[in-house]
Amino acid sequence: MVHEILVWPHPLLKQKAQPVAKVDDEVRTLIKDLFESMYAADGVGLAAPQIGVLKNVIVLDTTPRQPEAKPVAMVNPEILSLEGKQTYKEGCLSVPGEAEDVDRAAVVTVRFLDENGDEQTLKCEGLLSVAVQHETDHLKGVMFVDHISTLKRELIRKRMKKLQASMEEDQEEGDDEKPAKRSARAEAR
Ligand SMILES: [Zn+2]
Repeated sequence: MVHEILVWPHPLLKQKAQPVAKVDDEVRTLIKDLFESMYAADGVGLAAPQIGVLKNVIVLDTTPRQPEAKPVAMVNPEILSLEGKQTYKEGCLSVPGEAEDVDRAAVVTVRFLDENGDEQTLKCEGLLSVAVQHETDHLKGVMFVDHISTLKRELIRKRMKKLQASMEEDQEEGDDEKPAKRSARAEAR
């Protein structure tokens, strides 16, 4: 099921997610929903808090830019080591239309449980490394905009407020059953 993706600064995006005790069918459904929501929004990564679920689950698919990579779901991901440095122009499905340079480690080694509950360790480079760092940040309530200057962050915050206001307006216009509008139409007649 495709879920709505929360837009920053939604309060749930600032909260810490909780570890998953057991990888069961409920968690597997969450993983499936995360993949579907990510693909519907044309993203390369999505964390459970972005659809309002405060659990330590992320999904990644960097194959559009890294054909050698595979789509992967990570439950309780834990970064074991960070090496080197890279700067990447990052975007986020919760901050639509924005992209800024963020400094990250070049290579990360991450340990996690897969959808069967088996422990895996994966060494990630390039975009996958960026995505793992970006998505595990979401589990700590940290956004990519927390890694950029205050000035840039506040400009983005203003644009997100405008965007949300226009989205709410569109929703109201699409709703013909609003009593206020009905009475306005009645008066006009
Ligand atoms: Zn993000």
